[in-house]
Amino acid sequence: GRRNHLPLVLSSLFHITLKMTHQFPSLSPEQKKELSDIAQRIVAPGKGILAADESTGTMGKRLQKINVENTEENRRCFREILFSSNPSIANSIGGVIFFHETLYQKSDSGKLFPKVIKDKGIVVGIKVDKGTAGLNGTDGETTTQGLDGLSERCAQYKKDGCDFAKWRCVLKISDSCPSAVSIAENANVLARYASICQQNGLVPIVEPEILPDGDHDLQRCQYVTEKVLAAVYKALNDHHVYLEGTLLKPNMVTAGHSCTTKYTPQQVAMATVTALRRTVPAAVPGICFLSGGQSEEEASLNLNAINQVPLLRPWKLTFSYGRALQASALAAWQGKAANKAASQEAFCNRAKINGLAAKGEYKSTGSADQASMQSLYTASYVY
Ligand code: 13P
Repeated sequence: GRRNHLPLVLSSLFHITLKMTHQFPSLSPEQKKELSDIAQRIVAPGKGILAADESTGTMGKRLQKINVENTEENRRCFREILFSSNPSIANSIGGVIFFHETLYQKSDSGKLFPKVIKDKGIVVGIKVDKGTAGLNGTDGETTTQGLDGLSERCAQYKKDGCDFAKWRCVLKISDSCPSAVSIAENANVLARYASICQQNGLVPIVEPEILPDGDHDLQRCQYVTEKVLAAVYKALNDHHVYLEGTLLKPNMVTAGHSCTTKYTPQQVAMATVTALRRTVPAAVPGICFLSGGQSEEEASLNLNAINQVPLLRPWKLTFSYGRALQASALAAWQGKAANKAASQEAFCNRAKINGLAAKGEYKSTGSADQASMQSLYTASYVY
């Protein structure tokens, strides 16, 4: 009878599963230790990431706002300001993400920028994706390019001082988005990227950004965030990615930018932590949020509230901000050498505040200045 076959079927299934686990190891114990040590350093208590990897085009838009021409030297000048800040910046910044061009530029005193950052005890990272490309037959959805030659580029970046990498995928919310194909494609390409990084000694930051564009409410963003993250972690497991040697860079769960209902930082925090608890394994050492067009102050208050949610949070919850760490520094600079100190002060102030928020210890004085309250939102944001 059929029943007699059941134990046999079960035991062979079990056997296959066991063999699968051990047959083709991907990383040595030494490689795993190196990766998890790097990840832990980046998200040490009270530390987060400065995302300074704006592409040349994106940097042009930033500089345009302060009437500064988008030249290689002007881009270098602004990075010089950020990177030569007081060494105490290392108390709140554990990692800096570079754009390719910046990695080979030098400080005013002639030191390569990666060395400037390393000498402060901060980990150097590099953006390795090559931007988005449309998915045919979808409502303007995208995947992210850059897998060809990625292993060779990672090996070179490791030699040039990098210990982690970033790759940004973009999803959007509408009545028909994200589609099943966009969720599956972006999860898979992130997993493939992560696997290649780890083989080359780089900790991959896995970034599936769900854009804030739209009028959806908080609940819809939470639902979509859970679906996207569940797909990402299934793909990472399928590709044998070592989770202890990764970091996640997600959006916070917020209502759409044009939603008429406004939510408190406590509501955003509860929705965010709930979504993460349901989908992100505890083996992941850190979750470093992008700021996604929130004002500097909003991004700090939300992160602080996230670190005060009365639920078990098995990972570090910190920041990997671009706009929300640089907006007031850019505004203070205005392209004038004489403003260097004021610009650095603005940057250090935001870094310190976010470092406190990463521990749930930021107490807003309620006297935040104009620049830090300004929305940094751009529709369909390209990085
Ligand atoms: P924002 O913090 O400006 O959203 O950007 C962070 C980033 O690196 C996006 O990839």
